[in-house]
Amino acid sequence: MGHAMSIRIIAAICAAFIAAPRASAQQGPGSPAIQIKAGENCPRGMTEIRPRLCQAPELPPPSILDYRPRSTLVTTEHLVPRAKYPAIDFHGHPRGSWLESKDSLAWLGNALDGINVRVMVVANDMSGEALRRAAAGVAGSATMKDRVRILAGIDFRGVGPGWVEKAIAQLEADVAAGAVGVGEISKEFGLSIRKADGSRLRIDDPALDPVWAACARLKLPVFIHTADPEEFWQPIDYTNERWLELALFPRRRYPPDEFPSFEELMTERDSMLRRNPKTTFVIAHMGWHANDLPRLARLLELPNVYTEVGAVLYDIGRQPRAAHDFFIRFQDRILFGKDSFQPEEYPYYWRVFETRDDYFDYYRPYHAFWKLYGIDLPDDVLKKVYYSNALRITPGLPGDRAP
Ligand SMILES: [Zn+2]
Repeated sequence: MGHAMSIRIIAAICAAFIAAPRASAQQGPGSPAIQIKAGENCPRGMTEIRPRLCQAPELPPPSILDYRPRSTLVTTEHLVPRAKYPAIDFHGHPRGSWLESKDSLAWLGNALDGINVRVMVVANDMSGEALRRAAAGVAGSATMKDRVRILAGIDFRGVGPGWVEKAIAQLEADVAAGAVGVGEISKEFGLSIRKADGSRLRIDDPALDPVWAACARLKLPVFIHTADPEEFWQPIDYTNERWLELALFPRRRYPPDEFPSFEELMTERDSMLRRNPKTTFVIAHMGWHANDLPRLARLLELPNVYTEVGAVLYDIGRQPRAAHDFFIRFQDRILFGKDSFQPEEYPYYWRVFETRDDYFDYYRPYHAFWKLYGIDLPDDVLKKVYYSNALRITPGLPGDRAP
């Protein structure tokens, strides 16, 4: 074979691999590959194996429910079953009945000891008789009387003539019964609660300002949950980070024809925070901006605003460097809170806050298909987040106020 001929053959062979294969080109046994243009996505069922070249797997792909790859990463692991410092859980949701019986209070005390939570703040939106019964149950327990405190609920339904006087009188009665703050104000406030005239109650409705002023006068921090993750308002397609959660829980879907938009709710919330600078607000779930820390940083420029970390650990733990810097910067404004009470889930929070571990599992796969990393907070910041910020803004909480 002559030299020129062999070059031509080599060139032809190379072209077969390098040049654009047509839709019918064979890339592996039985799996045709196709070419896409720059900026296009592969068709469904295919993945980009080389730049702009898509191929389908030869084996049937698993669903996202069944694909559970075992990590082969070998790295040091520091499990943290108990918080390094005794924590205050500002976002507690025990069942109301747990607070009324000695046995279930003892069970709760044991569970809290196991994870080193010293005080649980009950954020069950309780008021009136239910709050009085729960507070009396706690006060009557020798071992738990300094380990549980209760927030008062406000009934926002039917705002109209006469509402505000009634709401403030009820709040004062609840404080007399032992309430140390207000909350958790539910996401229904803004999303769906109606005024007496049938219109949607806006979060920044001026009719509510006297209630926020009463909270400031009574030194009650207001713990408020507004909206939900922004993806809950987005189309439920395969680019949605919360597709699985939305597919599992229909009530988390907020179609635009039925609900105010995410931005509308955020705008109303922020305007309420600005209108009431003397009232201390604790924004639950990092305001659903844990995936946009620059936005949360702008909100925390308001000096009356604090935030809480419940149920957004997946966003803190996927950006360990940015989250570390954020917690350092706002160390006086962040409170620990867990939300749903599952004692076995707290150690994931301790591990994210206290270690520099890499790439470990989160406890709820439908929230996040990714892994978590430790953000390695220094001890003085841990103490503030775990308890001293909560103590500072909540005069009714028991505990030594020194950090
Ligand atoms: Zn809650």
